[in-house]
Amino acid sequence: QVNINKKYGLNFAEQYKKDSFIKKFFLQFKNLMVIILLISAVVSTIISLITKEYQDLLESGLIFIIVIANAIIGVIQENKAEVALELLKSQTQNKTRVLRNGKVEIVNSCDIVVGDIVLLKSGEFVPADIILLESNQLRIDESSLTGESQEVLKDAYANVDTSAPLAEKLNMCFKGTSVTNGNAKGIVIAVGKSTEMGKITKLLVSAREKTPLEKNMEHVGKVITFSVLVVVAIVFITQLIFNKNFDFMKSFLTSVALAVAAIPESLPAVITIIMALGVEKLAKHGAIVKSLNSVETLGSCTCLCTDKTGTLTQNKMTVNSLFYDNNIYKQNFSGNSFDMLLTAINLCNNAVEINNTFSGDSTEISLKQFVKQQNPTLLQHSSLKISELPFDSSRKTMLTFNKINEKTYVFCKGALEYVIKNCKYALINNKVVEISSNILINIENAHLKMASNGERVIAVAYKQSPTLTEDCLIFIGLVGIVDPPRPQVYEAINKCLTAGLKPIMITGDHPDTAYAIAKELKIATHRQQVITGKDIEQLSVKQLSKMINDYCVFARVTPTHKTKIVKALKKNGHIVGFTGDGINDAPSIKHSDIGVCMGSGTDVTKSVSDLIISTNDYSTIVLAIEQGRTIFSNIQKTLLFLISTNLVEVLGLFICALVIPNSTFLLPSQILFINLVTDSLPAFALGLEKTEKDIMKQPPRKTSDTIFTNIGWHILLQGFSQTFIVLIMFVVCLNIWGNSVASSMVFITICLMQIIHAINCKSLRSLTKINILNNKTFNISFLSLLVLILIISLTPIAQTIFNLAKLNAIQWIIICLSSIAIIPIVELCKYIINHWNKPKTNNKK
Ligand code: ADP
Ligand code: MG
Repeated sequence: QVNINKKYGLNFAEQYKKDSFIKKFFLQFKNLMVIILLISAVVSTIISLITKEYQDLLESGLIFIIVIANAIIGVIQENKAEVALELLKSQTQNKTRVLRNGKVEIVNSCDIVVGDIVLLKSGEFVPADIILLESNQLRIDESSLTGESQEVLKDAYANVDTSAPLAEKLNMCFKGTSVTNGNAKGIVIAVGKSTEMGKITKLLVSAREKTPLEKNMEHVGKVITFSVLVVVAIVFITQLIFNKNFDFMKSFLTSVALAVAAIPESLPAVITIIMALGVEKLAKHGAIVKSLNSVETLGSCTCLCTDKTGTLTQNKMTVNSLFYDNNIYKQNFSGNSFDMLLTAINLCNNAVEINNTFSGDSTEISLKQFVKQQNPTLLQHSSLKISELPFDSSRKTMLTFNKINEKTYVFCKGALEYVIKNCKYALINNKVVEISSNILINIENAHLKMASNGERVIAVAYKQSPTLTEDCLIFIGLVGIVDPPRPQVYEAINKCLTAGLKPIMITGDHPDTAYAIAKELKIATHRQQVITGKDIEQLSVKQLSKMINDYCVFARVTPTHKTKIVKALKKNGHIVGFTGDGINDAPSIKHSDIGVCMGSGTDVTKSVSDLIISTNDYSTIVLAIEQGRTIFSNIQKTLLFLISTNLVEVLGLFICALVIPNSTFLLPSQILFINLVTDSLPAFALGLEKTEKDIMKQPPRKTSDTIFTNIGWHILLQGFSQTFIVLIMFVVCLNIWGNSVASSMVFITICLMQIIHAINCKSLRSLTKINILNNKTFNISFLSLLVLILIISLTPIAQTIFNLAKLNAIQWIIICLSSIAIIPIVELCKYIINHWNKPKTNNKK
């Protein structure tokens, strides 16, 4: 196989090249301000060498080291994001069944080689170009290749000229097309770039598209850059005019360092990392987010449509009650009609028993299990199935045509309304009688009783007939099947409701069954909240959208109704999450804002969905939404921290330059160090904050909201209060101890204050309401930065390098008090903002 791979290449459609570490490292310097900084540092070095001012030499050396450290941190972060994204990519790999060494193996579709024998079934993508060996009713959607929307019926035995155009090669399937019906076996003749698809698609390295948030951040970055440059220019010019001992090189370096520090060039990258890591965490819980885009949408989702069967319920079905001979039985089944009923559900059934367990459709499995329990010999009783009309959720019935003892019978099972309309007679106490209105009422009452109990009801009928026709059937009885809700779903629904997320149940079951389960799960409270597929059919999307908020259960729905529901919800202004699994759910998933596919879904459905839930569990979807909100709020925390702390440096320098132009506030290397400390670890750690308790108690984010909507005021107030503390301290100390001590104190205070301020940024609410120790990364980053800052400010060598004065105890007390003061002051800011906002939101309600 390795040799074959060498010869034909891998079965990749696209291959993407990774940048080397060195290249990534140098890419960190593409920022213009950083380049200017480095050049000025070089010039400054030369000047200080000439003038023999060795303190300045230290300064520029330090600048080099800090800039390089920053670049290394940048590369490490980028790598982390890349690894997380790669992992996701590998999880969404398509798989293919191949026959190797006489055994069926499941392999990644990209590992298929020429000569492999592959098996195809409905809902799968064709993984390579294949010549068919066998085919059963194989229909292929070739629109991705030929643009032809009509499905093509393939045939392994078709006689095809080798020179025929693609569309006429009926004995072949092509990579990238999808199987819509039937199954087949075929031999691979071309993979990867040599496939027909590979030839027409340009194999460009497709870069990941930026998410709206990332684009938004780039825009914000530009605005900040512009403002910072203006401030820096003003600082420089005022220094030039008013500072009596103006040193061109020093001022220039200070300005450039300030620009480098305050311009948040790492912002988009930090956001990507936070999203990527959040997504990685979700994957561990069984929710695979296919693109970072969806993370944002997840957080703003306003309604969540889900299938009932298997998602809200356990998909563990058991027969609970029967209706025949005018009676509902729960046990002690007997009688002739009962035997007929058992025979019918046994034969009109595609579930198969392998090693004592059944596989197939879960409804049919439950019927087989019931038959086995009642009369095991019946399972062995082999009777010839001549033909069949399989179950389909539009027709809601299944028919088989069987031969028993030289006689041929039609058996039918399905939803009552669909079966009864073809029934002319009923089997009652072993007699076939015409269905009278009395009998009909009896049947309907029984159905109501079973359905209201939450049972999925299957009507069963038969007739003796020479051909498979659907009319004039004899009604035998009803089978009630229970499928209990998943235990976790109760809490998940509750979460949805408090989070302002409307849970919607979509099911093919009868409205009574649907309502019983919906009521049990607290999705619905009134029978009027249930609407059926038939009702929807009468309405236009526009009409439906106007009344859709009144409903939360959609019963007796077929796949086409689902698309209509999604469209109507969207028209109503909802951000719609929609789950599905079958191939005919794909259009609805495509239309929704967040398409969710269950792990059991088909490849085609998975390929159009944004989120894949491998646990098949509703609560995992809710978890994903919760995580989406968490990621978003963590990004806000990071922003709050980054921008409010940068504000201190910019405003501090700005005001100092204007008011006390003769003083030195911070040295360039100090500015860069503060930036290194604050921009990297705490900002990153804030992105990993745990979900806040009340995150699912808030309404969904509005689409009109920007990322700054609730943090704007916090950023400003917190930035101003920090600047205020630092400036007051600077002015006071300047007058008592002189510039050298004052600026050293400012440097240490800002460093300490910012790592302490990071704690403030853990929540927009008071710190007393959260557990501040629950983020391990944060704690580690806090402690290690604290140690680093203490080392720099207390060891003589570092003091010389950073040009810091020796400080006495009183000065240290002032430093500690001022930096800790940021906690109560920000608490006060939060109190003011939160109380000022509250009446406003209440009024809206
Ligand atoms: P869902 O999407 O909720 O599974 P379906 O459309 O599959 O709904 O089923 C709708 C109805 O069709 C059920 O209430 C039941 O009466 C009937 N039904 C379901 N599965 C089968 C089956 N395998 N054979 C016959 N009837 C079925
Ligand atoms: Mg079904």
